[in-house]
Amino acid sequence: MSRTQTTKPAKTKKTSKSKKFVYAFGKTTDGNTTMRELLGGKGANLAEMASIGLPVPPGFTISTEVCSYYYDHEQRYPKALRQAVADSIKSVEKQLGKKFGARKNPLLVSVRSGARDSMPGMMDTILNLGLNDETVEGLADASKNPQFAWDCYRRFIQMYGGVVMGVTARTEEEEDPFHVLLDKLKHKVRAESDKDLSTANLQTLVTQYKALIRKRTRSAFPQDVMQQLWGAISAVFGSWRNERAILYRQEYGIPAEWGTAVNVQAMVFGNAGDDSATGVAFTRDPANGEKLFYGEYLINAQGEDVVAGLRTPNAISKLAQEMPKSFKDLEKVRSKLEKHFKDMQDFEFTIEKNKLFILQTRNGKRTGLAAVRIAVEMQKERLMNVETALLKIPAESIDSLLVPVFDPKALKAATVITTGLPAGPGGATGRIAFTAAQAEIETRKGNRVVLCRTETSPDDLKGMLHSQGILTSRGGVSSHAALVARQLGKVCVCGASNIRINYEKKTLSVGRVVLNEGDYISIDGSTGAVYKGMIDSTDSEVKRVLDGSLKPSKSYTYELFQTVMKWADKHRTMHIRTNADTPAMAKQAVAFGAEGIGLCRTEHMFFEGDRIDYMRQMILAVDEMQRRAALKKLLPFQKKDFVNIFKAMNGRPVTIRLLDPPLHEFLPHDDVVKRQLAEKLGVPLDFVIDRIKSLHEENPMLGCRGCRLGIIYPEITEMQSRAIFEATAQILKGKKKIKVKPEIMIPLVGFRAELADQLAIVHRVAKEVMKKHKVRISYIVGTMIEVPRAAITADEIAKEADFFSFGTNDLTQTALGLSRDDMGMFYDEYQSKEIYNKNPFASLDQHGVGKLIDFAVDRGRSTKPDIKLGICGEHAGDPASIDFCYRSGLDYVSCSPPRVPIARLAAAQAKLQNG
Ligand code: PEP
Ligand code: MG
Repeated sequence: MSRTQTTKPAKTKKTSKSKKFVYAFGKTTDGNTTMRELLGGKGANLAEMASIGLPVPPGFTISTEVCSYYYDHEQRYPKALRQAVADSIKSVEKQLGKKFGARKNPLLVSVRSGARDSMPGMMDTILNLGLNDETVEGLADASKNPQFAWDCYRRFIQMYGGVVMGVTARTEEEEDPFHVLLDKLKHKVRAESDKDLSTANLQTLVTQYKALIRKRTRSAFPQDVMQQLWGAISAVFGSWRNERAILYRQEYGIPAEWGTAVNVQAMVFGNAGDDSATGVAFTRDPANGEKLFYGEYLINAQGEDVVAGLRTPNAISKLAQEMPKSFKDLEKVRSKLEKHFKDMQDFEFTIEKNKLFILQTRNGKRTGLAAVRIAVEMQKERLMNVETALLKIPAESIDSLLVPVFDPKALKAATVITTGLPAGPGGATGRIAFTAAQAEIETRKGNRVVLCRTETSPDDLKGMLHSQGILTSRGGVSSHAALVARQLGKVCVCGASNIRINYEKKTLSVGRVVLNEGDYISIDGSTGAVYKGMIDSTDSEVKRVLDGSLKPSKSYTYELFQTVMKWADKHRTMHIRTNADTPAMAKQAVAFGAEGIGLCRTEHMFFEGDRIDYMRQMILAVDEMQRRAALKKLLPFQKKDFVNIFKAMNGRPVTIRLLDPPLHEFLPHDDVVKRQLAEKLGVPLDFVIDRIKSLHEENPMLGCRGCRLGIIYPEITEMQSRAIFEATAQILKGKKKIKVKPEIMIPLVGFRAELADQLAIVHRVAKEVMKKHKVRISYIVGTMIEVPRAAITADEIAKEADFFSFGTNDLTQTALGLSRDDMGMFYDEYQSKEIYNKNPFASLDQHGVGKLIDFAVDRGRSTKPDIKLGICGEHAGDPASIDFCYRSGLDYVSCSPPRVPIARLAAAQAKLQNG
């Protein structure tokens, strides 16, 4: 039975008058922290803070349902909303004894966005709303501070003019037109900072701002405060679909349907004098997770001053001297927030005339390291239990504890020349090599290398192995470079499209920067940044402990890593295997906690040393005899590889896949190499050229590959099976007792008969080897499910198979009719139109490909209830896909070695989340 979650039927949207669209917070509060879907994160948390007695200025939240309505109804609102907003404003007026739009003691509000998951800085905000030519005088009287009142007014016009009325810079070169006017005036009156502008100066600025708006929009800045309010509400809802927000949603997989809420809240003023301030604080350090009060503030300022960087804010610790009472209050809030929300909080505060207000709180964004440290330490402090702590760590965060890191100081001094797609995390620095051969030459000299290619192909594997990192100017996150880099744990930046590589001249250029082969370059695979020159980097502490070069007791990071991994292993039920083709990879994966190999791609073994020549000899053979002669030479190499892998895995299960890729991938493209090959084989060059031509396929991914190879050349399957069983026999008869039970996997099967054909060969060879060595070998044979037909006929195929392993790279390719190497042409457009929520080669298309998997699981088990089920496509290292695999009822996931720790955590999270 599959564990697919049942989803509730979609609710039909009610738009009746009785429906509640607006939720208050303040003296009376309608919402709470569990209502994020409806109120957005900010609205839900404001309500929660108000209920636990934190000093929150009163206000109300317009729900996310209104956002959906707004987009579904050509940007109109439900009828009942207008009255609900008017009533809510009245309620705020009553709580504060102020009046919206009144000359005497006017109420000002802020209007802010707030999605279910915070999207910092992506949507719009308006402050000081409610000011006009009259209320500004009222504010001046009420505060007895006209300079402050006019400062608020000019800020409001500036923000409203930009966000709602669209008066902004018209080109990238142009500056913000309001800033231009502000700077001009400051220059004219010789004011060093905004604070030095007099009331009269600010009044002049207000006149200039209004004139600018009239000139650019042909309409006046609105004086009606209700018109201002609705303008701001619409701008905030509208910003849900701005370019930044769409990009952010793509990056973090936030669905467009969620929508944003709008929060309208009474203004408090950090710019009301030197007894006022505003700031942003984190309850712990978001960079490294340390439990220290972190943040910054500005005296006599409003929120945007802290963010805009026009004035340099002070570290929060300084507030202890500048405003000791407020600092104490803030410390109390810090502790109360953590105890209540049970997570590190990022909150905004304002001090108005020595009185502290909290304007928002949210779970703080943090680095991977900080996420782990905060969860572990909060569990120790009993703020959360182990289960909650496990769920608090984004599984990907574990990566940042494992990747080599750039020295942070060196990074600050480095020059970024361009950016590409972050495809293999970590930092790598080295000399530029444009070819695999050059990479090898440099590393043999003891130099570090970054392999720089337009794009990579299987021919480059050796060069990639020799390199610290890989940089390509073409290809996406599922390109060959990215896939192999992740597999090998190499740093990778791909698709850096501003880069021009000239192989002839041996140059890499970005604009005017020209680098030559041998020059130093550095890449950050976590951010995609490419730097000129060398940046010092170092292996992560965790890796150094795992390889024995650092004592565990010397590394707190390792302690954190181990704690989380132990917790995860205790809670997960799915097994974690790895995709490994060499003993070194296998050892690394075991150190990371792999419980077996789920995919050993045997073709990768054919690239080293002389093997590639024998392989090419086999491919170019004209008849079976020649082919067998070449295969005979390959056999001992394969056998030795398997022996070493079995030893490295020390009794853990190993799934070996028989030859899969189209043969032409092994053949040289380069004329010089073709000539060398002809010489080595003792055949004319023309023969080599002709054979290569004859093997050409228009669409090799759908051509002669997978089990089709073994069916037309049975001697290949025979050789590979023999190598596996001979290796098994050698281990079983060896001195050291190691358990071996090979699992042989047949690729690209779509018909039961294909599997049966190959099985017959495997069983025959097994018998021969057992007889020859007088040993009993226990083994199983299964297949990959990587074409839709295999999924659809899984009940049939299961009759022949002991296990299924979902090859979701090919299954995605074949189900979507989409080549994994050729999606670059349209992928950006698809992303910006939000057609794909995520790259389907990176995160499983659960609604499409996922259905095929669920179907195959049910069908397979209907024939063979105990059939073993796993996944070995790239998706096996992706947390969201791992969650899907758990719900589908798979027994294991098999991912590349560096992703094993991530998979361990994600598997535990899947179990905790789904039960
Ligand atoms: C797959 O298709 O998912 C798979 C693991 O095989 P490969 O990537 O080697 O084609
Ligand atoms: Mg495949």
